[in-house]
Amino acid sequence: GAFLDAIAAGNPALNAYVAVTGDEARAMAARSDEKLANGTGGALEGIPLGIKDLFATRGVHTQACSNILKDFKPHYESTVTANLWADGAVMLGKLNMDEFAMGSSNETSCHGKAINPWRRKDSDQALVPGGSSGGSAAAVAAGLCLGATATDTGGSIRQPAALTGTVGMKPTYGRCSRWGVVAYASSLDQAGPITRTVRDNAILLRSMASVDPKDTTSVDRPVPDYEAAVGRSVKGLKIGIPAEYRVEGMQGAVDSLWQQGIAWLKDAGAEIVEISLPHTKYALPAYYIVAPAEASSNLARYDGVRYGLRVDGTDIADMYENTRAAGFGTEVKRRVLIGTYVLSAGYYDAYYLKAQKVRTLIKRDFDLAFQAGVDAILAPATPDAAFAPGEFSDPVSMYLNDIFTVTVNMAGLPSLAVPAGVNGDGLPLGLQLIGRPFDEETLYSLGSTIE
Ligand code: GLN
Repeated sequence: GAFLDAIAAGNPALNAYVAVTGDEARAMAARSDEKLANGTGGALEGIPLGIKDLFATRGVHTQACSNILKDFKPHYESTVTANLWADGAVMLGKLNMDEFAMGSSNETSCHGKAINPWRRKDSDQALVPGGSSGGSAAAVAAGLCLGATATDTGGSIRQPAALTGTVGMKPTYGRCSRWGVVAYASSLDQAGPITRTVRDNAILLRSMASVDPKDTTSVDRPVPDYEAAVGRSVKGLKIGIPAEYRVEGMQGAVDSLWQQGIAWLKDAGAEIVEISLPHTKYALPAYYIVAPAEASSNLARYDGVRYGLRVDGTDIADMYENTRAAGFGTEVKRRVLIGTYVLSAGYYDAYYLKAQKVRTLIKRDFDLAFQAGVDAILAPATPDAAFAPGEFSDPVSMYLNDIFTVTVNMAGLPSLAVPAGVNGDGLPLGLQLIGRPFDEETLYSLGSTIE
């Protein structure tokens, strides 16, 4: 009830929720109250959550914030959200995002942009919450839910978390099932939680994570008690500081915060070592080949026949064309065009194959660092703080926002963004901890030292 009231009061200014499921939320909460009263409550009993519009929720608005999925209500539930409901969580509604999770500012949503609850000191100019999980981050930051689901293909959990002062975990590829999550780039997509604290994050991930026969890339490994890692000593852990992340254009405040984070971990007894990840500079261009390539293939299914929008035409080809022209936004069309181009005969070797080779080199950089005994890597999450809508109007400058985040997806590694301080304008900045595959626990221990 209190959260539904908070949404009614706060959402018009933030546009974080694109659908509020008030009646269902009340019914779920009433069932939770009963279970809590008779002592049969689950790990998340009664905890109110917001769900990114990318997760299929049975009978409920699921549109990936695209016009092409207009009025789509799936007959099935994503595995991640099913896991949350099985543990007693309550759904408040569906959260805004960039269309099909393509973007870094939440400006490409068919429901309009989401707004960051933070403002620059002495200014009331609205700022973006980052993207693509901008609604998730804004809702958590503004207290419109206790936690939210999100997804991260190239930074969409960590970047919005950093820009809103919240905690975001992009788990190891395969830790959470992708089943029922609308696909963007299948070899990079991974679901994870955005929360206010590291502890809440650890609790949510434990419920979200599972092996799933319906997603053959999900991994059959026991899900640890992540919460037990929160507050655990980081003494003796070896933390790598990658020289290549000191890039041109990085704001001074980001660099000083990074130094501050290093000092905090050192004080807590961690050992700091300089490392090199020499292929970092190729990650962004390679990502913007691999991700659109997979997207162009995944988005081929939106043809006006199976789901959502249909715009009739003179024949079936004309109907496909009309539907896709009307249903997809500009950024999605750009990605489909790039993806189709880099996969086409004659260009495949030059672009897609080359990008996949770069991906292997990026992965090898991390492997070598971990083999040399590094337990985790500390780097900034974003090159700058939250920006104003329209500030990055050309796509390439928008893509540059992802410079610190995409490498992790290319390598399939877990990474936790934690709020670490503010810049001169009083806006939150985040640091990012990158771990060995399936070692989310170490990241939670380190994250709780920094937050
Ligand atoms: N900003 C990146 C992109 O547009 C990442 C998005 C994401 O992680 N879903 O591709």
